[in-house]
Amino acid sequence: MKLCYRIDEDLCKGCGLCVSVCPKNVLEISDKVGAKGYFPVYQTKPEDCIQCAICCTMCPDVAITITETVEAEDTNK
Ligand code: SF4
Ligand code: SF4
Repeated sequence: MKLCYRIDEDLCKGCGLCVSVCPKNVLEISDKVGAKGYFPVYQTKPEDCIQCAICCTMCPDVAITITETVEAEDTNK
């Protein structure tokens, strides 16, 4: 199992709630405007993310998701 962290820039309104609650200060609001006219959040230091999911819980627009992915099995066994 591998955890996949994703920010949906089309859902993010750049409110900054997730930035304020991240215990590792991983998140920042971009200075580049997105397709919807908002400044979306992004991970400045993804290597510091502990995938605690607090940002996912806080986001009112469900723009951040952490999902488990099953890595493809080796079929050449
Ligand atoms: S999962 Fe936790 S550590 Fe990672 S960006 Fe979200 S709040 Fe920060
Ligand atoms: S809480 Fe959600 S909408 Fe607000 S900046 Fe973070 S990801 Fe974007």
